[in-house]
Amino acid sequence: MGNTNGVLVVGAGPVGLTTASQLARLGVPVRVVDLLEQPTDESRAVVIHARSLEMLAALGVAPRLEARGRRIDGLEIADGRTGATRAGADLTGIPSRYPFMLDIAQPDTEAVLAERAAELGIVVERGVELTALTQDADGVEVTLRSAAGDETARFGWVVGADGGHSTTRHLVGTHLEGGFHGQHFAMADVEVETSLDPGTGRMFTHPDGLAMLFPLRGSRARTIFLVDDPGPDATAPTLEQIEALTQERMAGRVRVTGSHWLTYFEIHHAQVPQYRPGRVLLAGDAAHIHSPAGAQGMNTGIQDAANLAWKLALVARHAADPELLDSYQEERHPVGAAVVRTTTALTGVGTTSGALGALRSAAMFVVGHVPALGEAAAERLAELTVGYRDSSLAVQHGGHRRGAARAGEHAPDPEGLRRPDGTPVAVEELLAQPGFLLLARGGAEELREVLGELGTVVEIGRDVLDADDVVGTHYGLGAEGLALIRPDGYLGLVADTADASVLRSYLADVLRVGAPAAV
Ligand SMILES: Cc1cc2nc3c(=O)[nH]c(=O)nc-3n(C[C@H](O)[C@H](O)[C@H](O)COP(=O)(O)OP(=O)(O)OC[C@H]3O[C@@H](n4cnc5c(N)ncnc54)[C@H](O)[C@@H]3O)c2cc1C
Repeated sequence: MGNTNGVLVVGAGPVGLTTASQLARLGVPVRVVDLLEQPTDESRAVVIHARSLEMLAALGVAPRLEARGRRIDGLEIADGRTGATRAGADLTGIPSRYPFMLDIAQPDTEAVLAERAAELGIVVERGVELTALTQDADGVEVTLRSAAGDETARFGWVVGADGGHSTTRHLVGTHLEGGFHGQHFAMADVEVETSLDPGTGRMFTHPDGLAMLFPLRGSRARTIFLVDDPGPDATAPTLEQIEALTQERMAGRVRVTGSHWLTYFEIHHAQVPQYRPGRVLLAGDAAHIHSPAGAQGMNTGIQDAANLAWKLALVARHAADPELLDSYQEERHPVGAAVVRTTTALTGVGTTSGALGALRSAAMFVVGHVPALGEAAAERLAELTVGYRDSSLAVQHGGHRRGAARAGEHAPDPEGLRRPDGTPVAVEELLAQPGFLLLARGGAEELREVLGELGTVVEIGRDVLDADDVVGTHYGLGAEGLALIRPDGYLGLVADTADASVLRSYLADVLRVGAPAAV
């Protein structure tokens, strides 16, 4: 029998590995199984956006990912016939410690996440497939099939991170709702020769269909082409076809010199109605599938994982009421729905005529809306606009200072904070401690008592110095006040008082935490 407090994570893709590592950091016993004997070598997702990097930074993997990837500072839309630039988006000014897209092949991302999981004591059980699942009021019983035979095990909770064809989803009796739009893409990871700047991602508009170029490390690049339906038997384009498409649609600016991975990809757009069927939580592609447009798929999944893990950790450790998990559905389902909606809008790609239509389609393809490719588009592309202002977990107590972040928004990470010894410190570094981060002006001692082992209280002016009042500017804290940052980096409670009773009632009434000392 498995530990009924423990969590089973089905799937060791990027979402399963992120979830499992976050759970392990928060002290939850976790098992991870994956039916594949070896990790996939398909490069699939090649972009990690700023918001995902911020979340992965808390796991301590951002530098390792950067070491394997390539920074992309901007995006450009060009005419595929002439090469003339039509629009561009500069990522260097976006409000993040990661003002770029990281182009990195998915096996590298998974290798880094697996390495981190191993450091946290997680052994990914490979060649182990979830084949059956039933749940009752107290737990989930599963059958895990491997070469050694069938094992029956019981867990408190199961996270289905088993991808687009999720068995977990099927076994809980839910299904994806959405549509098939019959759009096909030829994708290829190839070696290229080009004089184009490798620090820019490019989309080329062309009457025959869009083309995209994402430089990876070295001379490797991901190319994507909108193509006609290649037919049910065609699984991959030939290298010659990719060479021809590259030549035709990238204004002759890119030459293919070798190949790593070629595939056809058909767009489906769908989402499960319920991310939390009882004691089972669906995350990543198991919960939502959509086109690779804007490279949102894996990123949305990683952010699902960050949102889910801390809540599940509290619940699995009996520190919070399972009702807290309803906020996973509340917060993440709309985000997934928006991504699915955006990519569904791509049905216009290739059918719009004329330059404006093509440009519009192209811009939608990258950033999800018409080509006002300014700061707002860049922020949206980086997923920095994702927030939970309307969530039941977002509580703004008292007045709000104009320009400061509100409860539900992502915690700002301004320059200007220093440790007492004078060295600069980032909010991101403070968040690397597992659990909540409470920034407080006043009342720190009592706040520490109330927060207990749920997290860390940082007293501004004592633990961290703030000569320029950046906490006032960015968090709205006056002479007294507090900002409770959730483990996924979003602001839960922002108060214009440091009164510990405000924190106490937030934890008890909003997060439904009953025993703060437990996590
Ligand atoms: C061709 C292609 C190109 C893509 N390009 C991009 C892109 O550019 N940008 C982007 O963001 N996204 C892209 N995606 C999507 C991206 O790859 C996925 O969003 C991402 O892999 C989702 O991660 P995941 O962990 O949810 O699922 P997956 O990566 O699919 O991992 C699921 C894991 O679960 C395992 N599993 C499945 N069933 C079981 C079972 N019953 N028992 C045990 N284990 C099981 C699988 O073996 C697998 O390892 C692309 C996808 C494809 C197919």
